[in-house]
Amino acid sequence: MSIPEYFGCMVFNEACMKSRLPKEIYTAMKKTIRDGKSLDLNVANVVANAMKDWAVEHGATHYTHWFQPMTGITAEKHDSFISPFGDNGVIMEFSGKELVKGEPDASSFPSGGIRATFEARGYTAWDPTSYAFIKDDTLCIPTAFCSYGGEALDKKTPLLRSMEAINRQAMRVLRLFGNDDVTSVKTTVGAEQEYFLIDQDVYNRRKDLIYTGRTLFGARPPKGQELDDHYFGTIKPRVAAFMKELDRELWKLGVLSKTEHNEVAPSQHELAPVFTTTNIASDHNQLTMEVMKKVAARHHMVCLLHEKPFAGVNGSGKHNNWSISTNTGVNLLEPGETPYENAQFLLFLCAVIKGVDEYADLLRISVASAGNDHRLGAQEAPPAVVSMFLGDELSEILDAIEADTSYDAKEKSLMRVGVHVLPKFPKDTTDRNRTSPFAFTGNKFEFRMLGSADTIACANMMINTAVAEELRQFADYLESADDFHTALNQLIRKTIKEHKRIIFNGNGYDESWIEEATQVRGLPNLVSTPDALPHYTDEKNVTLFLRHKVLSEVEVCSRCEILLENYSKILHIEALTMIDMVNKDLLPAMSKYVSKLCKTISAKSAALPGVDSAYESNTARRLSELTNESFALVRQLETYASHAATIEDALQTAMYYKDTVLPCMEQLRKMIDEAESLTAKEYWPYPSYGDMLFSIK
Ligand code: ADP
Ligand code: MG
Repeated sequence: MSIPEYFGCMVFNEACMKSRLPKEIYTAMKKTIRDGKSLDLNVANVVANAMKDWAVEHGATHYTHWFQPMTGITAEKHDSFISPFGDNGVIMEFSGKELVKGEPDASSFPSGGIRATFEARGYTAWDPTSYAFIKDDTLCIPTAFCSYGGEALDKKTPLLRSMEAINRQAMRVLRLFGNDDVTSVKTTVGAEQEYFLIDQDVYNRRKDLIYTGRTLFGARPPKGQELDDHYFGTIKPRVAAFMKELDRELWKLGVLSKTEHNEVAPSQHELAPVFTTTNIASDHNQLTMEVMKKVAARHHMVCLLHEKPFAGVNGSGKHNNWSISTNTGVNLLEPGETPYENAQFLLFLCAVIKGVDEYADLLRISVASAGNDHRLGAQEAPPAVVSMFLGDELSEILDAIEADTSYDAKEKSLMRVGVHVLPKFPKDTTDRNRTSPFAFTGNKFEFRMLGSADTIACANMMINTAVAEELRQFADYLESADDFHTALNQLIRKTIKEHKRIIFNGNGYDESWIEEATQVRGLPNLVSTPDALPHYTDEKNVTLFLRHKVLSEVEVCSRCEILLENYSKILHIEALTMIDMVNKDLLPAMSKYVSKLCKTISAKSAALPGVDSAYESNTARRLSELTNESFALVRQLETYASHAATIEDALQTAMYYKDTVLPCMEQLRKMIDEAESLTAKEYWPYPSYGDMLFSIK
């Protein structure tokens, strides 16, 4: 079958609905999708039945409401279609009620105190804007997950709400510019996904990878990424076979996987999809991560999605390309051809500038996780300080507008918004700066702080809501203005003046930038997850979410709590894994090797009197020291880990893990890594960094 023939063959998409639904049902369904209206039960019954027939024809036996609880991964509970029929028979059934609403027993999903455990039920509700699909012989229905009180318990619900918010406010602004043909606005996202692939056998021998997704120990290999010979290098046959199958599987699911290439680190790769509507992009990114893991297993490999699987080697991120488009196909972040279009572009650009400046803390929070803390600011990913890259041309234009001076010095023409055509800036000059957290790349912004394992739902919920708020303020101001053009000019100039501190086109990896950002510009530098998260509940942020009906105060608090708890849990598991590895494998191995060396020393002195054993004795001595120090540190770590469990407050617990447990883990790692470099390979119980990073031939 050709690609266009099988693309989306496992998706109950538009074409499928059109061919399988009676006309009036199809029309009702389209209306539901377009207007976000709820589905009439009669319509739902017909749709459910058609979906079931289609799914059964494609080998499905079960259905599931597929949702994204706050654990960040996707959840599913499978029910079969079978229903008793006659005396001994069954028929395959699926009702509209089952399609539209599900009631998983959800007491084990984190709710941050929203849903008391005795009220275990949450319910899932179909999001008809994201098509149903078949995965592993199961019909998956993308759903939102809420408590009985209606509070969101998932990542999808607030994302959908934020899309409504930005649609509402952007429409007000577009009306002011006379865009009467536009009826809705959607944000679009293309999420580039980085990942590592390592051999399954090597993986199976590393407890740390199995339990925590990252290596907790490991001396640096002689060869890392210094030679830059991996980036865009030729793809090894096993990886190529993996990528080919991955693309096929994703295409069947309607995921627009487009580009695959090697990344900077050895064994690191990237997949970029074609962009699509944000909530679909978010569903697709979850699917992509899941399919990557499954396909890797079929090739006897493991796909590592952790942000920092290997210390000292570049970690993995996820670039979130974001823009806003109208239903008439206009990208609102694309500089236009006429002065009028340009004024509109500049206003939307200003909304993003102001939004990122005022809600930089929320953007930082949206990417906060224990894993991502290892990456941000480590000279491989943007720093924890949020800033925006616009490129020199666009920055000069904004400077000229702000100063109300001529942009083109030669022509001495005044750069007036809505009067002059923006000079065309060549696209390729806009994407050079890879160090910026939030970069304008010609017709979209690329948010680069996300970790590879993050869902993109939270980051996009923050961006959408922040920009919606700025558009609201702009619309309020402009709607009440006497003279639209004068008001527009003033508004743009004022916004640039007040928020240009967020614009930074220099090297974000530079130490001096952090100093300038924090000391001179007053930008927040929320270095770690526990530093960032408490700001979730800052008054300005709660007000923002409430105003746009994206999150209630209870929802904000519960999310903050869950993220803090999650951080502590991850560090706890890491600490326990380290303790286990050191006690059971590493100290015994080190001791065994020392004993072997000591035996050699005795044997030598007996057999070869007068010959000294410099290598054996120095190594044995240093290894014995390291053994003792590691032993002391691991006892310390045990004490810390059990103390952490006794702290009640979530923030205090997270802080304790960051300030006390983590440094102890790092210290222990240092000892062990030095020991690894001194111990004969056959004595070391785990595959080395070299074995892991170069495991795929
Ligand atoms: P590169 O970053 O390699 O130069 P592109 O700029 O073409 O490549 O695209 C990078 C990513 O941005 C892709 O995933 C692409 O689909 C996405 N993208 C392009 N245009 C938009 C848009 N208007 N909205 C959201 N994402 C977009
Ligand atoms: Mg890119």
